[in-house]
Amino acid sequence: MKPQIRRSAPVHTNLSRFSAMALPLMSLVSDDSRYQKSFQLFLERSSEHQCMRDFIHSRLPDILASIGDGKSNLNVIGVGSGAGEIDLEMLSELHLKHPGVTVDNEVVEPSSQQLHNYKVLVSQKQDLDYLKFTWNKMTASEFEQHWKAKKMTKKADFIHMVQMLYYVKDPGATITFFHSLLNKNGKLLIILVSGESGWGKLWRTYREQLCNTEISQCVTTGDIKSFLDSKGVSYQSYELPSQLDITECFTEGDEKGELLLDFLTEVLDFSKTASPELKAGVLELLQHPSSSVKSNGRVIFNNNLGVIVLDQLC
Ligand code: SAH
Repeated sequence: MKPQIRRSAPVHTNLSRFSAMALPLMSLVSDDSRYQKSFQLFLERSSEHQCMRDFIHSRLPDILASIGDGKSNLNVIGVGSGAGEIDLEMLSELHLKHPGVTVDNEVVEPSSQQLHNYKVLVSQKQDLDYLKFTWNKMTASEFEQHWKAKKMTKKADFIHMVQMLYYVKDPGATITFFHSLLNKNGKLLIILVSGESGWGKLWRTYREQLCNTEISQCVTTGDIKSFLDSKGVSYQSYELPSQLDITECFTEGDEKGELLLDFLTEVLDFSKTASPELKAGVLELLQHPSSSVKSNGRVIFNNNLGVIVLDQLC
């Protein structure tokens, strides 16, 4: 049997055929193994999870205090949970706020690798008896179809989407669907990069060249706020300061720098496939004072996050 080759020859033929067009680049998301590798490196080089943890321990408890309406069982849905580190931190705060309450936790995650990692993490933790997990190996839109096909009437008390709305076709429609699932006093929490971050700057400048709108969106909390404002939906919002060390991106041929560049641009093998002009423009923008600061010889990219919290629609 011939070995399976992920990026097959016809794709490259397509690439050269379309090289003069606006979207000649492949999305990083199309290669799950490289995506997971670059995401892992991003987590190591950034304060991403630390700033989320700070938020979860300082602000989230108050947000979760009013959910549940006195019930003895809460329904939670995590969308795009990844390996579950952040989910378990949130669930632990939920448990502290509502001790003695059991929790049905639906995990919606299309990557089997990430679901596996999440299950391993759960197996290593103690004191999770209050939690019952349902593992949904599917995308947010598959979950929506599934939910509608089964005519589910179950409502959720807490739904979160942490750094995942980039990967849906229509972030507004996804928010609208999950918002409609909230129970009385329920909360929907969204975390994305802030419109004020270096990401916002990068995407405002290079959205056309970088974003493959079919599978990944250059969306920030600024865009989500505009969407919610246009619909007249009210929300609370928070800004979380965060940093990402991108120094290695500026060393030609550096393996880690290339992985980080793929993550920043969401383009697979960006250094090898982008035009010299695009590459030069992106590298210049990444170290421009509006996106990064230079400190002790390092280039520190503004990775600020935004949090948006929606209440159940009355
Ligand atoms: N929430 C985690 C992981 C964020 S990475 C954290 O903050 O650490 C984004 C996650 O969304 C990945 O695990 C990816 O597999 C998942 N994902 C990608 N496309 C998705 C989709 N269409 N629906 C739901 N999740 C998706």
